[in-house]
Amino acid sequence: MAQCRCCHTRGFMVETDVNGLCEACAPYYYLQMDEDIKTLQLSLQALSRIQYAGAAAARLEIARESLERLRPYEAAKLARLPKPSDEIARDLDELEAQWTD
Ligand SMILES: [Zn+2]
Repeated sequence: MAQCRCCHTRGFMVETDVNGLCEACAPYYYLQMDEDIKTLQLSLQALSRIQYAGAAAARLEIARESLERLRPYEAAKLARLPKPSDEIARDLDELEAQWTD
């Protein structure tokens, strides 16, 4: 019985690929994950330089969305992030606090 490394779905109907991913999780890994890692890195860089709140809010949202998509793949050790996702999430919370003061 196969089990997906990412979403942990298991069963006799579940087929996993060479990376242990089911058909729901595999496309993101092959098609979008690298893009999301890049987006996340660029957003973090931009956030360290941003000068006004509107731009920061937009970047924070983009970074959070990418991070949430990446988390299960990071947990499955399939995504390599610049830092552990928990640390990135904490950094984003701190940045958000700066901009909402
Ligand atoms: Zn899956």
